[in-house]
Amino acid sequence: MPNIVNELKLDFKDVLLRPKRSTLKSRSEVNLEREITFKNSRRTYKGIPIMASNMDTIGTFEMARDLSKHGLFTTVHKYYTPEQWKTFAAQNPDCLKNIAASAGSSQGDFERLSEILKSVPEITFICLDVANGYSQHFVEMVRKVRAAFPTHTIIAGNVVTGEMVEELILSGADIIKVGIGPGSVCTTRLKTGVGYPQLSAVLECADAAHGLQGHIISDGGCTCPGDIAKAFAGGADFVMAGGMFSGHDQCAGDLIEKNGKKYKLFYGMSSHVAMEKYAGGVAEYRSSEGKVVEVPYKGDVESTILDMLGGLRSACTYVGASKLKELTRRATFIRCTQQLNNVYST
Ligand code: 5GP
Repeated sequence: MPNIVNELKLDFKDVLLRPKRSTLKSRSEVNLEREITFKNSRRTYKGIPIMASNMDTIGTFEMARDLSKHGLFTTVHKYYTPEQWKTFAAQNPDCLKNIAASAGSSQGDFERLSEILKSVPEITFICLDVANGYSQHFVEMVRKVRAAFPTHTIIAGNVVTGEMVEELILSGADIIKVGIGPGSVCTTRLKTGVGYPQLSAVLECADAAHGLQGHIISDGGCTCPGDIAKAFAGGADFVMAGGMFSGHDQCAGDLIEKNGKKYKLFYGMSSHVAMEKYAGGVAEYRSSEGKVVEVPYKGDVESTILDMLGGLRSACTYVGASKLKELTRRATFIRCTQQLNNVYST
């Protein structure tokens, strides 16, 4: 008989943050910067730990440049050539502290990553990203990258359980990317039945990582600034988003005009569009696990950044946290049956 976990696991929508008495006078007093020293690289990071996803429409150089101006981070997608990286680095030296170069787990990815890191030695973060971080092959990739780059900060994922967080940290990763199935353009839960409610994944994985002096990223499932606040409150050191950064000028992809309205194409990295672009189509043995959507055009990403940061500062003020780092300690989650009043939503 299969095991059944009867304990209820939570998504962001299942909880609200309880307000607490506070001495903060204004949300402008809240410090959203964090300073973090990583377990294996021993490097120290300082910045606002919100990240743009390494999806090819989101983790662009344009996004990296503009997010970095506000202290935010971008995991740049893996499809830029070393030459493109060299040009970007020469033109944007200030933003290199807020970016990671990404790779999957193939030998080709390893070679391309090595070439990029050789061409741009100022890059200190590596993002090793696979859909399923549970394979032994991926653990070996993390070990190999750690051996080749002993002082780079390694992000690795995705996983959703404490034991795999520990395994990846002990294999040399510094920050574990947490999330299987919560993404806005993800269909893994639909196609496979596999997944884990994101807030519970964050709570459990943060506990496992912090026990080893490691760190985690909550990746996927944030639909509004309040969800970002809940992810940090749940113990995430970083929060990564794709959909919330989509539709902007800084995103890759053409602007589409339909019936007088503007849209931008946004798709999952396992969607048929991504697979046709990079893998010559969807292989017969697999199904696509990503959606393709046209999102309303949102203009410059700056307004979205300010909305996210404003919401997060306000969340900190409501619970009396003068720094983002204190948000988890000050947080009490209330389980709820309704998060929003949708009477005027379409
Ligand atoms: P979002 O912020 O849009 O909710 O989630 C973004 C995350 O979804 C990405 O960082 C990545 O981990 C995940 N993701 C992106 N594309 C796909 C896909 O095609 N399939 C699945 N299963 N996950 C995806």
